[in-house]
Amino acid sequence: MVGKQEESTSNHSGIVVGFKTKKGEQVHLKVASSFISQDQAELNLQLEVGNSSFEAVRNSAESHWNQTLGKIEVSGGTEEQKQTFYSCLYRTLFFPNKLYEIDAAGNEIHWSPYNGKVLPGKMFGGTGFWDTFRALYPLLNLVYPEINKEMQEGLVNDYLEGGFLPEWSSPGYADIMIGNNSASIVSDAYIKGLRGYDIEKLYEALLHGANNEGPMSAVGRFGVAYYNKLGYVPYDVKINENAARTLEYAYDDFAIYQLAKALNRPKEEIDLYAKRCQNYRNLFDASTGMMRGKNADGQFQSPFNPFKWGDAFTEGNSWHYTWSVFHDVQGLIDLMGGKERFVSKLDSVFSLPPVYDDSYYGGMIHEIKEMQIANMGQYAHGNQPIQHMIYLYNYAGAPAKSHYWIREVLNRLYKPTPDGYCGDEDNGQTSAWYVFSSLGFYPVCPATDEYVLGAPLFQKTVIHLSDGKQVVLNAPQNSAQNKYVSAVKMNAKEYSKLFLKHSELMKGAVIDFKMTSTPALERKFSESDFPYSFSNEQKAVKK
Ligand code: CA
Repeated sequence: MVGKQEESTSNHSGIVVGFKTKKGEQVHLKVASSFISQDQAELNLQLEVGNSSFEAVRNSAESHWNQTLGKIEVSGGTEEQKQTFYSCLYRTLFFPNKLYEIDAAGNEIHWSPYNGKVLPGKMFGGTGFWDTFRALYPLLNLVYPEINKEMQEGLVNDYLEGGFLPEWSSPGYADIMIGNNSASIVSDAYIKGLRGYDIEKLYEALLHGANNEGPMSAVGRFGVAYYNKLGYVPYDVKINENAARTLEYAYDDFAIYQLAKALNRPKEEIDLYAKRCQNYRNLFDASTGMMRGKNADGQFQSPFNPFKWGDAFTEGNSWHYTWSVFHDVQGLIDLMGGKERFVSKLDSVFSLPPVYDDSYYGGMIHEIKEMQIANMGQYAHGNQPIQHMIYLYNYAGAPAKSHYWIREVLNRLYKPTPDGYCGDEDNGQTSAWYVFSSLGFYPVCPATDEYVLGAPLFQKTVIHLSDGKQVVLNAPQNSAQNKYVSAVKMNAKEYSKLFLKHSELMKGAVIDFKMTSTPALERKFSESDFPYSFSNEQKAVKK
């Protein structure tokens, strides 16, 4: 053991350890770390490794991973598909990381990234909500709710110690990406049924973050005074990536609206966030049918190039961000002039050439390169903003187009090889897309209890829920050719809806997918079969 006299202090420290060995001799080195102290590191070592041999530690890790990955069992695909699936599930479950440690008395303690103190309770780090609100946290809420309950407890401490919820915790606050998507993380967990932590305090944190600028632009809401006054963050007031900010704030307001309803908050509070969640409309430019930056005087930014990355948007262009209306796709359909035009616009994403304008960045960023390599037109799956887009065909009654593109992306953009990922893994989000899409559904709008149906990849999948119940997804005819779903049964009954409800799945369910090689739907849809949209909810309330 290295003595305590061996200390070094700097922003980045490293250590090189060497051993004099004979040929064939093996060295087993035990290493532990702590954010708190050397003594705590030794405690962590005792707790996690103790006197166990290398083999025993390896076996214990293997058994733990098998148990955790085994929560979802797939069968019937190719070996390569199974390798890809479990590689993706593994990567999804890698983040976020526990920041808290266990002291000598057995209490949970953590080093606070906000004040440097050692304080009681949980905390996590190593996630960027801009990425992970989309599918990673929803996957935790479905399959691994216990760990997200711990994460919610940790968020309470983040708020108490730092004054804001983090948006990119590495750990604490980092000035990375945009949005106020902690609202989605908190709201989705509660709406999916997680309980046993201080949700009232977290709700208070959401309201605080939604109405204040934080200590840096990525925390709280940069440009909030403009947003709350004008209904958008203007293009010409020196706030970067303003259209993307507006669209995400509007969705985040929806997440707050949902939680406000669930917590029986006062009507005027619910109404305020219901109103604000419609702010996406302020950036819809009817002349191009796209989202576009808008100046403080109400004029759209000009000139406007929908292929321009960055600028009004974040690591993407208007072709990627026009779909960032997770909570009100029907409202977007109406703005675009109806379902046909909406579907045609979605089609254009794939049929356009992968052209780009990188002048905002002064050169090609890797996300642009990944869009070109993917060779699916403007569809940039290597980055997050567009990852829900394929599922939007369902809102316009064209699910077969979703089925087609889901399978294309599953096949072409993920492989179990060193270069098998289509972009940044981004804290597990890009893998969470693969996991959900393989199951046959996807959380287009977290903070609702719905998943939008797609088409499963395997002939059979079993999800072992934490209370011992199961969700069984059968698709016996599934194959490389039979990639379209023509009919669905839920618990042996015909099922016409284009979404699944989380609350139904949690009761345990058997879902039978009939798969075909051509897009031949046996179902007829009524309006109530389409996934959730805020506009439809409001129409129903008025009726
Ligand atoms: Ca990314």
